[in-house]
Amino acid sequence: MPELPEVETVRRGLAPFIEGAKIQTVTLNRPNLRFPFPKGFVSGLEGQTITHLGRRAKYLVATLSGGGVWLSHLGMTGSFLVADQRLDEPSRLNQHDQAGKHVHVVAELVHPARGRVSLSYSDPRRFGFMDLFATDAPNPFTDSLGPEPLGNDLSGPYLADRLKNKKGPIKTVLLDQRVIAGLGNIYVCEALHLSAIAPHRAAGSLARAEIESLVVAIRQVLEAAIAAGGSTLKDFANAEGQKGYFQHSFSVYGHEGDHCPRAGCMGTIERQVQAGRSTFFCPVCQH
Ligand code: ZN
Repeated sequence: MPELPEVETVRRGLAPFIEGAKIQTVTLNRPNLRFPFPKGFVSGLEGQTITHLGRRAKYLVATLSGGGVWLSHLGMTGSFLVADQRLDEPSRLNQHDQAGKHVHVVAELVHPARGRVSLSYSDPRRFGFMDLFATDAPNPFTDSLGPEPLGNDLSGPYLADRLKNKKGPIKTVLLDQRVIAGLGNIYVCEALHLSAIAPHRAAGSLARAEIESLVVAIRQVLEAAIAAGGSTLKDFANAEGQKGYFQHSFSVYGHEGDHCPRAGCMGTIERQVQAGRSTFFCPVCQH
């Protein structure tokens, strides 16, 4: 599943092609992805200009000139592909879907500088989805989310307040999207290792200094993954169809049985299942 750094990588890859572009036509090759496309989806997009491409948690959020919001979630295997027709570079097409048989949405855009841009959405497993909202309408996907982990609203005092009196394990609390938006299993494992906090600790037991170092660690692991082009995994391709390559840089995730990479630590990385998810950690240096 793409995590926040992959989605941010996709956003940064797409933005130069679609921000400022006017949507000429939208073609749906099927009536649904994970959910049916909403009524009026095509007519609500056609004729609109994409004024901004943002991200909230793992959602791509395209703001439209007419006051709408085009929301996309990549699910497990979704990817956006840009074929800049003026450049005529078919090599940019998604390598794992060369035949295009999993392309479910095609939007033809006109960008003020690039000319015609063909934006397509491919999703072999179809766990992704799209929706369309008025900017000021309630949005069930994003309204209850906590602060962005890379934004200013995530701070030591904020997190201390949210962890106060919580008896559940810190690992599980950090995965609660109402506490921090968009933080997934891989980066929670990595941030807890970097800040030397055991994933099983009761969330309310963390000292203030530990919370501060956890906030720093969360930003650090996400920013490193974004800088490397996104992290995952076999089904992920960034907006121009290249694989992210950060997966070799994880410290603990997927490293069960390996030596702990922390300098001076003699521990071995263990895997345990917590709340149905694999937790990778070092039992020696994480307390
Ligand atoms: Zn260790």
